[in-house]
Amino acid sequence: MPEGHKTHYLAHQHDQTFAGQSLDVTSPQGRFADGARKVNGRVLESVRAAGKHLFYEFEGNRVVHVHLGRYGSFAEQASPPEEPRGQVRVRMVGKERTLDLRGPTQCRVIDMETQASIEESLGPDPLARGKKADVWNNFRSRSKPIGGLLLDQSLIAGVGNIFRAEVLFEIGMNPHLHGDAMSQADFDRLWKSLSKMMKLGLKHGRIISVTAKEAGKPLKELANHERFRVYGKDECPRCGGPIAIDSVASRKMHWCPSCQA
Ligand SMILES: [Zn+2]
Repeated sequence: MPEGHKTHYLAHQHDQTFAGQSLDVTSPQGRFADGARKVNGRVLESVRAAGKHLFYEFEGNRVVHVHLGRYGSFAEQASPPEEPRGQVRVRMVGKERTLDLRGPTQCRVIDMETQASIEESLGPDPLARGKKADVWNNFRSRSKPIGGLLLDQSLIAGVGNIFRAEVLFEIGMNPHLHGDAMSQADFDRLWKSLSKMMKLGLKHGRIISVTAKEAGKPLKELANHERFRVYGKDECPRCGGPIAIDSVASRKMHWCPSCQA
């Protein structure tokens, strides 16, 4: 599932490519036909991300709200585009480029008031100037495991399964540690690692937790399976022990019980 680095990356790319143009918007698959009619021919003013949500802000207070969920993805091509292939929920055709959206969990037209209420329901987003002190206040009073708190979008926005596993491993923190048992120093280490890893993910458009030194090659050259330390791994890169998989907040959590004791 795309995490916050990816939505911010896409928002920036799509804003650069399409903002300021009037777009031909259709739903080749048909499931967004009504929504497409509401924004077709209008000028896209800007594209913004909040946590894992994307907002395509069209003139006239019409916003296309997209949540990619587990299977959603975008594909870009030159305009005029080829005939749509597969289940294209939304096609946006600009002057030079065309954007296709497939398989999102959420895709609908809302107004700015609804957009504001979605944004207000989210916790601070480290990639959108979310404040460290606010996240600390959200975590410190809760007697739930940190592995679950990190995925709760109302406490912190944009963190998904991979970031939580990689960050907790990097700082050697047990995912079952409760928020109200964390010290300020624990949280400081967590925040530092998380904001650094999310910014690196935004820069590269994909999550990378290893360093170039560890990988033995530049980060740009990493294959997908070389990017992580614990996520999807069997063996701990630090101690060589087995990686455990627990369910925390209903998602599989990879961690090393000896390095994160
Ligand atoms: Zn280990």
